[in-house]
Amino acid sequence: MLTIALTGGIGSGKTAVTDLFQKIASQSEEPECLKIIDADTIARELLSGSLNDSPSDALEAVYALFGAELFNSDGQLERAQLRSLIFSSKSKKHQLEALLHPLVYKEIDSKIKVLAQQATNTIVIIAIPLLFETKTEYKFDRILVVDLPVELQIARSTQRDNCSSSLIKQIINSQVDRQIRLNHADDIIDNSGTLRELQSKVAALFQHYCSLVHKI
Ligand code: ATP
Repeated sequence: MLTIALTGGIGSGKTAVTDLFQKIASQSEEPECLKIIDADTIARELLSGSLNDSPSDALEAVYALFGAELFNSDGQLERAQLRSLIFSSKSKKHQLEALLHPLVYKEIDSKIKVLAQQATNTIVIIAIPLLFETKTEYKFDRILVVDLPVELQIARSTQRDNCSSSLIKQIINSQVDRQIRLNHADDIIDNSGTLRELQSKVAALFQHYCSLVHKI
């Protein structure tokens, strides 16, 4: 098994890259060799469900931390309210992260263990947008960074989300510096070109990962 943590700043193209990995793997001789784990999906799942119906540990912890006003009458978390709460308060953001991130890594770990039992030649890409913003002892075999100059990050993100460039700049400033990601990368995908160029870069990297996983 080869575990690859995939990261990058907002709008850098992480989703585009994982989608391409999936498409390229599905057309390869070993379509089952690639698995994707997504940290954002895990975080969403951890906070889904209702306080009234066997709630997850994460949901109970958010309730204990921030109280009932973040929940609707069905006991479900109002995500938009949570987002604005942590956007307005750095300390609340840190409290939420301290609660949620260890649970997300625990879930990533258990998913990797399940996959390891199923097959040996598996390439597992774990998309973790905030890999360097979160503290973890977790060791991945490789770190893949999707890289983009800040100006293009702003242009693509504002176009995708139909929002102001000042909001995107604020988010970029809350994330680690581009250079820090690059310093820690084993592999870098420069996504400043076209989607067609991105596809050939991902295809080449997929071949590289296939050769690595067969050597293990
Ligand atoms: P986030 O961190 O916000 O989740 P992301 O890193 O997953 O973002 P994407 O959503 O994959 O980024 O890409 C951001 C936007 O840029 C999307 O609208 C996507 O279609 C577009 N995009 C990605 N790569 C390219 C490219 N090479 N050329 C043009 N547009 C691109």
